Amino acid sequence: MKIKNSLSVLNKKKKIIFCKKCVNSSLRPRLKFDKNGVCYSCLYSIKKHQKINWKKREQELLYLLDKHRSKNGKHDIIVPSSGGKDSGYVAHILKHKYGMNPLAVSWAPGLYTKIGWLNLMAFCKKIDTFIYVPNRELHSKLSRIAFEEFGDIFQPWQYGMEAYPQKIAIKFNIPLVMYGENQWVEYSGGHLDEEGGENTLIRRKLNQNLRVKSGVDKLIQIGIKKKIFNKNYLKKNMLVDDYRLPSENEASANKTKSYFFSYFKKWIPHQNYYYAAENCGLNCDIERTEGTFTKYASLDDKLDEIYYYFQYLKFGFGRCTSDASCEIRDGYISRKEGVNLVKLYDGEFPLRYLKDSLEYMKMNRKQFDKIVEKFRNKYIWKKNKFKKWELRHKVK
Ligand SMILES: [Zn+2]
Repeated sequence: MKIKNSLSVLNKKKKIIFCKKCVNSSLRPRLKFDKNGVCYSCLYSIKKHQKINWKKREQELLYLLDKHRSKNGKHDIIVPSSGGKDSGYVAHILKHKYGMNPLAVSWAPGLYTKIGWLNLMAFCKKIDTFIYVPNRELHSKLSRIAFEEFGDIFQPWQYGMEAYPQKIAIKFNIPLVMYGENQWVEYSGGHLDEEGGENTLIRRKLNQNLRVKSGVDKLIQIGIKKKIFNKNYLKKNMLVDDYRLPSENEASANKTKSYFFSYFKKWIPHQNYYYAAENCGLNCDIERTEGTFTKYASLDDKLDEIYYYFQYLKFGFGRCTSDASCEIRDGYISRKEGVNLVKLYDGEFPLRYLKDSLEYMKMNRKQFDKIVEKFRNKYIWKKNKFKKWELRHKVK
């Protein structure tokens, strides 16, 4: 998300609308609406459930896999994974239905939750997994810089998770990388054409630029300016390179191709959970995730809650809006139920792991609260008569 630009285009004159079918708002970056007030994500969902010929798509998948399936037991496909429901589903089905030999590549989160770690260990019993824990001190510093400067605690993790599976594919000469869903198509629906199933290097670079401008090097530069890193840090610390995408030369010499599984098979997160619970030993959390009603999605990182809370401060929608929209589109709940869930849980303050997260970033509560106000988007928030912050526009 291009935070600064996204905030600057928001002003009181911009009309804020909510989707007629789900609970998405027009403040969601990159999301468009048609003339009837329906978001493009819902339009794609109609196409997904009613129009796409999934048998034909599966044939495309088979054609691709047949070309690359290993005959000697060597890993032939990488599945970027956190041990959660989506990668569990993709890796398991590739192995057991399509006869591939997947290697899951997992870039460790900032702070594992207990349930996230247990799920990853259960996943490892079924699927060969390469877990990389980048230097904790470096990762903590990068997370703090990204948090203070961009209000996005996840930036460093996202760089690593995007880049590292590609590097492993090159290192071990593995021909395919299979990601889960194409988020642009499934959740932003910025364009209804799906660009085919391929996740090209150019697309990944564009994605990084949209979200985070210039990648990890920007964070390092800021860190040097703030004297968090010394000037020679980049030269001496090759670990930073693990956060960078491979060069075009490296990628094209290796010929590894990357795809989204959601192009080939209908992507329904709820069903992925049931599949992974049955086949990969995945468990849901004992309590619902803060800020939403679900307890089975994205459970592995204690920093998650802060990330989604900041999305709420910047764009006025939290994790519950995204989860409810998804469940409405897939027919699990009605829009009315979705609206009520948003009212109940969206933007809930991230208390559960706050202490751990602050310790991780070496930050105190006062500093945290200051950053909260720095990123609260004043175009969409106002103080009510009780002097409490309130969103100007709420879904109805
Ligand atoms: Zn919608």
